[in-house]
Amino acid sequence: MHNIDGAARLLELQSIMYNIRLLRQLRWFGGHHRLMASQHKRPQLLGSVPSDQLEQLKSNYFARRQELSGDEWQSVRHSLIEGYKHINDHNVDAVILGVCSGPQQLSLAKNYVDYLRSTGAGPNAATLGRLLRVYNAAYHTRPLSEAEQREILQICDSLQAAHETLDATSCEQVIHGLVATTEHWQRALPLLEMMKVTSTPSVSAYSALAEKAFGQSDQAEEAWRLLEEMTLARKQPRCEVYLALLNRLAQEPAATSSLRVELERLLQFLERHNILVSKKVAQRLLQLGQQLPQQLRVTASRLGPLGKCQECRQHLQPVAISDEEFRQLSECFLEKVLIREDVFQKSTPEEVLRFKQYVEKTAPYDCVIDGLNVAYSTGAKKAPQQLAKLLATVVRHFKERHKRVLVLGREHMRKWSKSAMHYVQNNASLFLTNNLSHDDPFLLYATIRSGQETDFFSRDLMRTHAFLLGAELKPIFRRWQQEHQFSLVTQTQTGKIIVKEPIRHRLSVHQAEGGSWHVPYCDVYTPNPTDSFDVPEHWLCLILNT
Ligand SMILES: [Zn+2]
Repeated sequence: MHNIDGAARLLELQSIMYNIRLLRQLRWFGGHHRLMASQHKRPQLLGSVPSDQLEQLKSNYFARRQELSGDEWQSVRHSLIEGYKHINDHNVDAVILGVCSGPQQLSLAKNYVDYLRSTGAGPNAATLGRLLRVYNAAYHTRPLSEAEQREILQICDSLQAAHETLDATSCEQVIHGLVATTEHWQRALPLLEMMKVTSTPSVSAYSALAEKAFGQSDQAEEAWRLLEEMTLARKQPRCEVYLALLNRLAQEPAATSSLRVELERLLQFLERHNILVSKKVAQRLLQLGQQLPQQLRVTASRLGPLGKCQECRQHLQPVAISDEEFRQLSECFLEKVLIREDVFQKSTPEEVLRFKQYVEKTAPYDCVIDGLNVAYSTGAKKAPQQLAKLLATVVRHFKERHKRVLVLGREHMRKWSKSAMHYVQNNASLFLTNNLSHDDPFLLYATIRSGQETDFFSRDLMRTHAFLLGAELKPIFRRWQQEHQFSLVTQTQTGKIIVKEPIRHRLSVHQAEGGSWHVPYCDVYTPNPTDSFDVPEHWLCLILNT
């Protein structure tokens, strides 16, 4: 195993900040003056750049040139090494290619690598990897020529020939190179496997391959396999993956059945993994509807307050899970997840036993409240008296609705305001764990043990617990959670509390009773969606004609 260039990986992670910073170096540490020397020939390039717009320096200097002279490259290189302590002789070349990484800068990037070859030193592996990314950027704006594809293959061959096993970063670069070729992209699939030796392959490696596979008429199965694999590893596919599928569907001859089958498969995939697509994908779907009006109708829509689609007038499906699903969930939760010692590891077995006996004796409840979470939800730096009062107010909220309440808390809460804690104790069951315990497992245990109608009150998103349930039960848990989770929005100046009530209709892609699909979307792709239960503002209403 060879780590071709660990530094380059770091640089990649921080590339945007980095580019800005290194351009600052170019300007402040002498690079500016040296570049100014070449400016006599092109006075418009540097002179007019205001110091606060360093990005402009990049666009004015690198973006407009196809090549620099050997002297100019040497000057850029020296300025960076001298001016920036993290840039050294070993990584400077990759840094420079990181700056010339736009789709229009392939010539400039190649010109730099030629310059390196002309000096006799030649580019190192990290630099060649970076160059592959520039080819990939160009490939996304135009088809690459045969000569360019040959150049890519030569680079990939040389990188692979040098090391039997490549490190994850190098694998990723080679994957991005290979997918830019027409004939040889499948060579990249084993590299994804190679990445697994040291890490989980990245979103970008998975997405690049799935995108390529969707672009071929006979590789959809491979694309779906990659998508399933990456979502199971909690990696969100990039927009380009879906766009590649939609673009291919738009181009294929009008075979209604395959369009319908493939679109349904996409919608079911988004539903199963609770994926919110971006506006870009939504716009492509709208456009597809315009291109193929015989086969599907796609409209932008809004939801009424109770989840009624303003376009097709159908109601979105209730989020509630079936009795059978609840049975599965509770079985798995009570037996496999909550009882596992590592989940309760911060509690003693005696405490867990005491809790379970307490629940058996006092359940069922209508609502289980995470006392500490509630008390701290408007800020932790409050006097104990205020914390206790807030908790008592939340208990009163449910008491007034004639709900049977369990409050979970910690031993130290006994020392909070006596009168408020008395109110809690007199109007709810109160179970206090020792101060080290995790509260969530107790909360979920008591809620699920109480039955299908029971709610809970906490702001915690319970992501770890959802994940522990595995791929099959996670979506069921998430729907149960959405239906039953209450939380505190805020407390007004007069002491009144505003409670966030659960949304009762589904918030992810799904098909309504009448057959129309509803697809929520967000503004931009994010690799780490929040998992909150906010109602998406934007929806598509999509009807597939038979
Ligand atoms: Zn609709």
